[in-house]
Amino acid sequence: MTEKFDVIVIGGGPGGYVAAIRAAQLGLSTACIDMNTGKNGKAALGGTCLNVGCIPSKALLDSSKHFHHLQHDYASHGISVSNASIDINTMISRKDDVVSKLTGGVAQLFKANKVRQFHGRGRLLADRQVEFTPHASTEKIMLEAQNIILAAGSVPIAIPNVTFDNKRIIDNEGALNLTEVPNRLGVIGAGVIGLELGSVWQRLGSKVTLLEALPEFLPAADHDVAKQAGRLFKKQGLDIRLGTMVKSANIDGDVVNVKIEDKTGQSEISFDRLLVAVGRKPYTDGLLSDDSGVTLNERGQIDVNEQSQTSVPGVWAVGDCVRGPMLAHKASEEGIAVAELIAGKAAHIHFDTIPWVIYTDPEIAWVGKTEQQLKEEGVAYRSGSFPFAATGRGLAMGDAAGMVKMLADEVTDEILGVHIIGPNASELIAECVVTMEFHGASEDLARIVHAHPTLSEAVHEAALHLDKRAIHRGN
Ligand code: FAD
Ligand code: AMP
Repeated sequence: MTEKFDVIVIGGGPGGYVAAIRAAQLGLSTACIDMNTGKNGKAALGGTCLNVGCIPSKALLDSSKHFHHLQHDYASHGISVSNASIDINTMISRKDDVVSKLTGGVAQLFKANKVRQFHGRGRLLADRQVEFTPHASTEKIMLEAQNIILAAGSVPIAIPNVTFDNKRIIDNEGALNLTEVPNRLGVIGAGVIGLELGSVWQRLGSKVTLLEALPEFLPAADHDVAKQAGRLFKKQGLDIRLGTMVKSANIDGDVVNVKIEDKTGQSEISFDRLLVAVGRKPYTDGLLSDDSGVTLNERGQIDVNEQSQTSVPGVWAVGDCVRGPMLAHKASEEGIAVAELIAGKAAHIHFDTIPWVIYTDPEIAWVGKTEQQLKEEGVAYRSGSFPFAATGRGLAMGDAAGMVKMLADEVTDEILGVHIIGPNASELIAECVVTMEFHGASEDLARIVHAHPTLSEAVHEAALHLDKRAIHRGN
């Protein structure tokens, strides 16, 4: 017999599990099918984000940051430690504990909200029927719902002539589970994931080389921020080689030999481990039957409109498997919006105010347009900035690299973009997102009282600088 629900969600990542919880909160009978299995062999909800993405990477970034600070940055505070050491297995099992607390937490939230959890694979058939194959089984169980939400996420992209063996040539999952610090770590791709995971192992002692095909560093970030970041990362010891195309990689015993091409021609470079971080692609393998009616675009993403509706009425799709940035918070907000639309409520996502964060040290965060985008679009704007080195808090913390840069419309003063490189940029950006969401002006931020001494004073001063009235820097 076919079991019926109001909503079936396929995928239990931040897009899917959040959609399922919100749908259940709204009184809809909801099921969530997720096939991910944790290290203990049991269902592990939370998708890429909780299991092999956002959370484990941040856990290792924090561990490695403490180790690095202990060795290099605490002497000026009068703190010295000799023979500091790190036990990689303890670091990795702490990370695993964080992951299992959170994935277990999602399972508890499902119980509390009465979301039915199905561990296994889901496949959309015609007429909003779903075929469910339980984990480690070949049995087929039929489910049906008024509304289906596809939240199947994404997987790492592979490149030609570079074959993962998950030991020497690894993806993000492998880089989150290394059992020893490689002497030489090669990273293909100097994007967000390459930089974050490269930083982890560099802080622990690896010599890290990032091979990036593009001639420009972090082209999506504001140029001033990217320039500062490039300088700071180089000083930290990251060897970032731009304009360097990886052609192939071969494992030879314990070594990975990588053929590269740059402006000097072709050459070879050897590493102990090679991390492939050239981006991610939507994961739709086995998700759709031939007659499901759901279409994909030329990039392999599920086709959706502004409201996340697919080509089939009652079938929706959210998160990494559709257009838009591959970010956990974007996936979750889409999930919530879809659940609310299904329940007959109004919902809308503002793609223009989705914040971006790179969790390097210093962190990089931005919202809205970059200066180069405003120039290209011919928008008249004013710009203000403020360095953390001129904040009392940054200096007191001994963590004062970077700046806040704010861009506002020349005529209306509405904030068009804020770009931060510096300590706690990931948290500081929230105030700027709120202001932009309310179509606030730089004058609004300039007139708001910011606590002293805080890092947020740099946001305040950047707003003042935009109007040539910063107090703690020249105008
Ligand atoms: P996913 O999280 O990929 O979840 C999809 C789930 O669906 C998976 O569990 C999958 O197994 C399951 N599934 C797929 N097909 C089926 C099927 N047919 N049947 C059953 N189950 C299925 N984003 C941020 O915002 N901040 C960060 O700091 C950040 N750091 C990252 C670090 C790394 C190393 C990586 C790899 C990614 C990071 N991301 C970060 C991106 C973030 O993880 C993704 O944007 C987010 O997980 C997308 O959520 P999702 O729900 O769309 O898909
Ligand atoms: P992101 O999309 O942020 O994950 O970044 C992935 C990066 O990998 C991009 O900056 C790409 O330019 C880069 N990249 C893709 N293919 C190659 C390649 N063959 N060699 C070097 N870099 C690559």
